[in-house]
Amino acid sequence: MSSTTLLKESGPREVFCGLTSIVWLHRRMPDAFFLVVGSRTCAHLIQSAAGVMIFAEPRFGTAILGERDLAGLADAHDELDRVVNDLLARRPEIRTLFLVGSCPSEVIKLDLARVAERLTGKLNGRVRVLNYSGSGIETTFTQGEDGALNCLVPSMPVSQEAQLLLVGTMANAVEDRLKNLFGRLGIDKVSSLPPRQSTDLPSVGPGTRVLLTQPYLTETAKALRDRGAEILQAPFPLGTEGSRLWMEAAAKAFGINDIHVANTLAPLMVRAQKALIPFKERLTGKKIFLLPESQLEIPLARFLHRECGMELIEVGVPYLNREVMEPELELLPHNTRIVEGQHVDKQLDRVREQSPDLVVCGMGLANPLEAEGIATKWSIEMIFSPIHGIDQAADLAELFSRPLHRRELLNNKLLVSA
Ligand code: SF4
Repeated sequence: MSSTTLLKESGPREVFCGLTSIVWLHRRMPDAFFLVVGSRTCAHLIQSAAGVMIFAEPRFGTAILGERDLAGLADAHDELDRVVNDLLARRPEIRTLFLVGSCPSEVIKLDLARVAERLTGKLNGRVRVLNYSGSGIETTFTQGEDGALNCLVPSMPVSQEAQLLLVGTMANAVEDRLKNLFGRLGIDKVSSLPPRQSTDLPSVGPGTRVLLTQPYLTETAKALRDRGAEILQAPFPLGTEGSRLWMEAAAKAFGINDIHVANTLAPLMVRAQKALIPFKERLTGKKIFLLPESQLEIPLARFLHRECGMELIEVGVPYLNREVMEPELELLPHNTRIVEGQHVDKQLDRVREQSPDLVVCGMGLANPLEAEGIATKWSIEMIFSPIHGIDQAADLAELFSRPLHRRELLNNKLLVSA
């Protein structure tokens, strides 16, 4: 492992739960439906996170466990069957139904795996019913995607064919650009998990090389490895450097000539590095503190330090998967302070002591920190923004430069009015 300083904390956490990932997953697979088996709180969370769709039929919903279910007075399995039957009768276009577990369904030990298996049999293959947990008891918000993709893996067809599999949700336009670039490198068979239609699952087998597009897909990566795929070790495709190394890892695995790879990527690198210059000017020398939430913190820290010149005070991560993160850790500066887990009060004390120029954190902590005069950036924005690939490096840097600019304007305004 690289010479980073790793500390662990356990204590109160301040992160969204795994249900949040439904917000981006339901957009990716329009023929799937996400039925949360949870409480009114769960329903409020996903409705406010995803926005209430008034004109469109939403592709997510909540089967609310009432007091009688929670007290064990009603048979929650019967209730769930009734809700699923009603839903599928009303929405015949649904091809995959995800039953998503929550804190309440876990507390009453509702066996959603058994329900999913029974319903799949009953529906006779017309709809595939799967299940995973989005409960906030143990998961952070991006782990919801890991759960959803992991439960798709057993349904993927077998293939011996040599192919590249990109794993993790990306914006469709970014995915198209990356596939085109892989094609120019000489890798023609490239597929994605999740696919754009839930019924169009990619195949997997000993010829499959996997590039993770997101760092929070630990269980999915393990499941794909168990199906014979090779997980390629590389930094994540954030920034010009990470994206180049990520593509080079695939090119190497497919035996593509280094010179051809360098010639193909060089013009993109030059253009992207030029586009980064104005943001680098604003960010260089600024101190950044990343609180744990999205699991993207380490790749972002690497990009912000190496390509934007920012000084890393602390890099918090909800959990550290050393195997997946090793290529990233090797690129961090000597003695970077990495804190795994969270004790939110202690971390906030350290933020105040260090007076960073920018804090990356969850939405719940951003407002209080802003009120104390500290500029913040919401971690969740990185999940919803198209930030992957060489071409997106300047857009990624801009996300961090904007709150600093805003804070400068606010400070100037306060000085003028004082
Ligand atoms: S799953 Fe748990 S943490 Fe998430 S909204 Fe429901 S009750 Fe809250």
